[in-house]
This record gives sequence, structure tokens and C-alpha cells, in this order.
Amino acid sequence: MIYDLHTHSNASDGILSPEALVSRAKQRGVTHLALTDHDTVQGLQSARQQAALEDLVLIDGIELSCVWAGRGIHVVGLNIDPESAELQSAIAAQKEAREMRAIEIGRRLEKAGIRGALEGAQKLAGEAVLGRPHFARFLVAEGHVNNIAGAFKQYLGAGKLGDVKHRWPDIAEVTAIIVQAGGVPVLAHPAKYELTRTKLRELLAEFKACGGLAVEVISGQQPPNETETMAGMANLFGLHASCGSDFHVPDQPWQELGGFSDLPSGCTPVWQLWH
Ligand code: MN
Ligand code: MN
Ligand code: MN
Repeated sequence: MIYDLHTHSNASDGILSPEALVSRAKQRGVTHLALTDHDTVQGLQSARQQAALEDLVLIDGIELSCVWAGRGIHVVGLNIDPESAELQSAIAAQKEAREMRAIEIGRRLEKAGIRGALEGAQKLAGEAVLGRPHFARFLVAEGHVNNIAGAFKQYLGAGKLGDVKHRWPDIAEVTAIIVQAGGVPVLAHPAKYELTRTKLRELLAEFKACGGLAVEVISGQQPPNETETMAGMANLFGLHASCGSDFHVPDQPWQELGGFSDLPSGCTPVWQLWH
């Protein structure tokens, strides 16, 4: 069995349609796939239909943004009920917050002499939730920068003009919403926050106290010692272990579907919570 419990489709900032994502996962040997788009469950229905055709288990998921101690943190919800009223209203609030932020990013880019960024990013986003990656693609397409990384470095990354803050819910709120939706709250990619060990322990303790149940011991390609550290942390706090690629785009081997499912033997896999 190969689990990939963190992936994105073009319902958020991924490239593939939900159907194409499921097909690619199947080709890559994934048996259990969670679609966890940012702040939306829009792609789940199409993914579920495709998963039935391809004989693959689809786990309904979402990735919610929040703040903890002034930092942006992501919490994945696995096995959620996409119809949950609490989840639906949280999604609506996030969507509005993101739209307000996108308008502000567009305004600031305009002021910096970059015309039509909001409209351009909206066009690229289509039905998806508009985010900085769409602005990045717009900046590349219009020749303002050479690539996506350059767009973040120059315009959209931390401290740059497009780095617009807005009020995200806190970690307790998003964890509660996932629980209310019948799901398992999973702390996403703990290494990406670049916390000290002490801070990471504080985060995990608080997440657990809020009702968090699991942590991504594996998130895409990472050094073996990081996997061991995260496994130790999960066990220390009595959290189950999850794993996923955080797939967004094909042919990025460090985030490819199905490539990151070998949890260390001492871990308690998150799927034990629903088997
Ligand atoms: Mn993303
Ligand atoms: Mn994330
Ligand atoms: Mn993600």
C-alpha cells in the first residue's frame, strides 16, 4: 500500500485537474490518495469519481492556513466531511480573506508600475482560489521576472511588497473546524517552518492540546535525519504519523506523487485512526 496524504490540484495552486491528479497517482502506484487543496473542497467530487474509475482510495482532505505565534502554519484535515456546515463557513471566510488580500497585492503591484496584475492572476487562477502563485505566474508570463522563484524573491516573498498580511484564523480555530467536520487534524510539513527544536515542541504541544492528532513525519523529499527527528517528536507527543508529497506540479521529483510513504517503523500511522 502506498499512501500519499497531501496533494494539490488546480482547485487550489496545483497544475493538474483533480481527475488528472488521481490518474497520475494511480500510475505512480498510490493506493490511498488524499486531495488536500488550500482552503477548498472544490476538487473532491471530481477526484472521487475518478478514483472510483481507477480503483484507488480517495481520502477527502483540505489544507487550512492559520497562525501560531505570529507564524503562518498549515493544518491538513484528513477524512473530513466536505459538506460540514462549520467547514463550509470557514472556507467562505478564508476565501473572502484571500480575495481581499489579492486585491491589495494587485494594488501594490500596480503602484510599483506593474499593470493588470490582479486581472492577470485571476485569469490564471480560473476557478481556483486566487493566491500568490498565480501572481507569480503572471509576473513570469509578462516578463517581469525569469521564473517563479524570482517572482517570490523580488515581489511576493516575505518582506516584499506583495507580502500582504491579513488575519488568518489561529491554530485552535482550524483544528476545531477539522474536528467538527469529522476529520483528523494533521500538522503539515513541520520542517518548513524553520523552527528551533524548542519552538517546534511548543507548537506540537499546543497543536495536541487543541485536538491535533497527527503530524507529517514525511513531507516530500527530506534528509533522513529530519524524518527521524519528526518521528521522535510525533511519538513524544502521542501524535500519529502522516506522510505525503505536497505535490503541486508534475516532474518535480522532490514532490512527486507516491514517492514519500515509508514511515519509520516506530511510528503509528495516521490511517490507523480510520481503519
Ligand atoms: Mn501550495
Ligand atoms: Mn502547506
Ligand atoms: Mn500543501
